[in-house]
Amino acid sequence: MNAEKKIAVVTGASRGIGRAIALELAAKGAFVVINYNGSKEKAEAVKAEIIAAGGAAETSQCNVSDFDACGAFIKETVKKYGQIDILVNNAGITKDGLLMAMSKDDFCRVIDTNLKGTFNCIRHVARQMLKQKSGRIVNMASIVGIGGNPGQANYAASKAGVIGLTKTAAKELASRGITVNAVAPGFIRTDMTDVLSDKVKEETLKNIPMGTYGEPEDVAKAVAFLASPEARYITGQVLCVDGGML
Ligand code: NAP
Repeated sequence: MNAEKKIAVVTGASRGIGRAIALELAAKGAFVVINYNGSKEKAEAVKAEIIAAGGAAETSQCNVSDFDACGAFIKETVKKYGQIDILVNNAGITKDGLLMAMSKDDFCRVIDTNLKGTFNCIRHVARQMLKQKSGRIVNMASIVGIGGNPGQANYAASKAGVIGLTKTAAKELASRGITVNAVAPGFIRTDMTDVLSDKVKEETLKNIPMGTYGEPEDVAKAVAFLASPEARYITGQVLCVDGGML
């Protein structure tokens, strides 16, 4: 990948998978806008890590579930850097619970961040990419959005929605040189999975044919490929990074 002088926006890049994506894209030469919601210090630490490695990055706070805030964030980014070449919609949350006990609020909050957040950013960034007649959008789905998972009705619905959104956006934007793909991770070691009980972790591990959990860097490499010129003829796809789990 030669992302030299490319401007990349990575949402939820203060921690976990987003952090690894920011580091990977920066290592490939992109200028990375590290978006975060609440973890300012962690986002600043990612920026410092990128700069220490010889890369370039900036941090930017925005709650992706807020449509207008996303509009302002993207407008400001274009004003500062002139373009957006790569958008990675990575920000996501979980609020797990069995369907029959799930509150309306827990259902809506997950949809608001994971699905609406992805729509909000695409909606604002696509306007700029259409002008440029080029762009790469990579959305973070999950194998749960394909196969379902007990206790994650809200999360699975949000990620299934991300896949439908990805495929539709890919068809609408293809003629203007913009590709839209999704990456569907399995079980990746981050804060999100760290909170799960040892019992759940052990049960999950039994279902991973490769016998190990994934690392954030495993997902970051797949995202960097889909964001690269090498992936120019790939759009509307869902790439599973799950050690064979699905
Ligand atoms: P994580 O460690 O919990 O990090 C989540 C990131 O999303 C943080 O940077 C957080 O920012 C950001 N975020 C949350 N809500 C936000 C909002 N409203 N606006 C902007 N940023 C927001 O999670 P992760 O495991 O790295 O997951 C990253 C993505 O991969 C998510 O979409 C997740 O669903 C997906 N995924 C993860 C796994 C896995 O096994 N870990 C598997 C499949 C899919 P703050 O720190 O500022 O709150």
